[in-house]
Amino acid sequence: MPQKEPVPQKEPVLVRLPKGADLVAALTAACATRGITKAAIQVIGALENAKLGYYLQEEQRYVSYGLPEHCEILCGAGNVSVKDGSAFMHLHLTLSRSDGSTLGGHALEGCPVFAAEALILPVPGAALTRGFDEPTGLMLWQIPPG
Ligand code: ZN
Repeated sequence: MPQKEPVPQKEPVLVRLPKGADLVAALTAACATRGITKAAIQVIGALENAKLGYYLQEEQRYVSYGLPEHCEILCGAGNVSVKDGSAFMHLHLTLSRSDGSTLGGHALEGCPVFAAEALILPVPGAALTRGFDEPTGLMLWQIPPG
């Protein structure tokens, strides 16, 4: 029997992620199960450790780096759109260490949740897809800039 597509959630959603879940994967799944493919996301909480990315503009590639310690998510901000036919989470994190110093970057899979509370705000209208953008080398929203 074919899997039934969920009726897209149109109202804001509050999601608490379980301890040990992968932050990006769990947020992506939370959207997918609710049929959300276009949304703004904010998340706060704490991670057991973190894996972040930084895009080298000259080389047009990401480098990744880890924060191998417990940290707080001071601010997680992102969005959901469609990439290669599936919901895609683009999330940036500002994290703090136990001494209050901060570190941030593009959230990658490999950020195990200690606790996380997310607000997902679906955006109505046609699907927002990502496609290759020649000047940046990135997969960006397929809408005119401006
Ligand atoms: Zn990013």
